Amino acid sequence: MARVLLINGGSEGHINPTLGVVQELIRRGEEVVYFTMEPFRDRVEPTGADVITYDAGKFIEALSAGKVSPWSLNPWGQVAGLLRTADIVIPSFLEQTKGKQFDYIIHDSKFGCGHLIAQTLDLPAINSCTSFAFQRNNFDHFQDHLSRRFTEDMNELAQQEFQQQVTHVQAKYNVRVESTYEVFFNPAPLTLVYTSKHFQPDGESFDESYKFVGPSVASRSHGQFDFSHVDLDNLIYISLGTVAGQAIDFYKLCFEAFATTKYTVILSIGRQTQIEELGDIPANFAVYNYVPQLEVLQHAKVFITHGGMNSTSEGLYYGVPLIVIPQQSIDQPVIARRVAEIGAGIHLNQEDLMAGELREATRQVLEDPSFKQVCMDVRDSFREAGGYDRAVEEIFAFKQSLGITK
Ligand code: UDP
Repeated sequence: MARVLLINGGSEGHINPTLGVVQELIRRGEEVVYFTMEPFRDRVEPTGADVITYDAGKFIEALSAGKVSPWSLNPWGQVAGLLRTADIVIPSFLEQTKGKQFDYIIHDSKFGCGHLIAQTLDLPAINSCTSFAFQRNNFDHFQDHLSRRFTEDMNELAQQEFQQQVTHVQAKYNVRVESTYEVFFNPAPLTLVYTSKHFQPDGESFDESYKFVGPSVASRSHGQFDFSHVDLDNLIYISLGTVAGQAIDFYKLCFEAFATTKYTVILSIGRQTQIEELGDIPANFAVYNYVPQLEVLQHAKVFITHGGMNSTSEGLYYGVPLIVIPQQSIDQPVIARRVAEIGAGIHLNQEDLMAGELREATRQVLEDPSFKQVCMDVRDSFREAGGYDRAVEEIFAFKQSLGITK
């Protein structure tokens, strides 16, 4: 069968949806080489893929080295940062795969310089899109919209850095970078989008090269989670994902909002915060650095989330109404607005959020049955979309259309 190259960045949100796909590809006979950051080796290896890695520290350093930080969410700073990682990712990849041949590449929509590596190796490419998809025309509009939050000087500086990086990678790797869209979205002849057309904004406007396969939710082996201390009838689950920095004030606000209520709260605070830093924890809270989210969601009555695409999709996949409080990211506010727009939950702003407001929003999503109904409709659209099985069907159809018969 064919030898597949999968290129990804290093974050749960971008890796988790690919795990079921890789596992299924291997089950159907493909050989997969998965190139990601070293800390994710343990996560990927159980799929059966051959894992090779690049240096996470150097990647983050390169991403952040510009004068306009990508973390500021300046869109030009982001694309300049992403291009800067080419010097970490591409030479390391070429060195480790010397003499190896691949039949096609699957690359992440944002990280890992997938579009560049596909050009360097001249391989048929598939884009693995773990957030909402962008088409070229709506991306330009989105980028303009984001740029307006910054001064002209800052945008100009970041644009200059982007242009310098374009010149550099084009000369060094013999590739073309036509626009920021190529860097930010890594377009390819086939794009797998891990949501449904129903949940994707303007879903009907996408052409046939975009396949909305729904969330790729594969069980992840974490061992058994102990729910014995939890009142499953009144369970609130709170998580800001795995990359949000410290949010101690927010967690304390959650304590204030729910300490004297009938709810039981499972709070996952991420690995960047120590549980001791939170001070006194109310008796109805169980706090962890990390939980098996898929298991917890199957019992949760409401999910208070940062609006990461995976968390949002996973919540909706189990029909759980959401309260979305976006953190520092480009896509979370878009996802939060979409959740509110279709009525699957409530969008709150972190800035100036009061405990009473959070408690009231929670009461509303729990008591108004329309939220649950919309979530169940989205859940159905997700399940009908097919998940990783459908993704692999689309990959095989793509191979066939190109005459790859291995
Ligand atoms: N996750 C988990 N347990 C936790 C926190 C997060 O399993 O305690 C998983 C979650 O199921 C999801 C991913 O981590 O698949 C987070 O991805 P998302 O896109 O929501 O957010 P990010 O971490 O990329 O901001």
